[in-house]
Amino acid sequence: MLWLFTLALILLFFGWLASTRSRRLRLESGLPAGRLVYADSADWRPNPQPFYTKTYQLSGKPDYLIETEAGIIPVEVKSSKAPQVPYLGHLLQLAAYCLLVEETTGRTPPHGLLKYADALYEVDFTPELRRELLETMAAMRQARLAETVRRSHQQPGRCAACGFAYVCDDALIRWNEV
Ligand code: SF4
Repeated sequence: MLWLFTLALILLFFGWLASTRSRRLRLESGLPAGRLVYADSADWRPNPQPFYTKTYQLSGKPDYLIETEAGIIPVEVKSSKAPQVPYLGHLLQLAAYCLLVEETTGRTPPHGLLKYADALYEVDFTPELRRELLETMAAMRQARLAETVRRSHQQPGRCAACGFAYVCDDALIRWNEV
């Protein structure tokens, strides 16, 4: 069950990143914006099990995997409409899957795919993206040692959808009113 908790923490953190770190920061960091592509999803196969890497203490489960000549490509599916450029949190989640595929198969995926309701982005797994991921993971480990982590937004809707609202002192909603 530890991996489930780890996975939940990672997804929660990446979701938080998606809305708290600005597009400007992403652009300044030189991270790839992703290319809009059209892809036949016929050869996408659902991924039944999570990957885990002891080296990075990271686990996660891409929605789909595609076997290509360049190696296995992870696909993350979002039900929302596509932003103008993918959010940083989405990029990092996809990068984490690229890292997990690399660790598991021994081959580095050249890119991953971010599938939104109305668009598909191909995102290169660049050295900059890898570095941002590793730095973010280091910050996460550091944050886990902190006694208190304060709320970073003013969006009651996010708290209403949050699985930790019932134990969170910073929630913008009352749990028993949801
Ligand atoms: S309930 Fe707490 S942890 Fe969840 S989104 Fe709101 S402030 Fe963040």
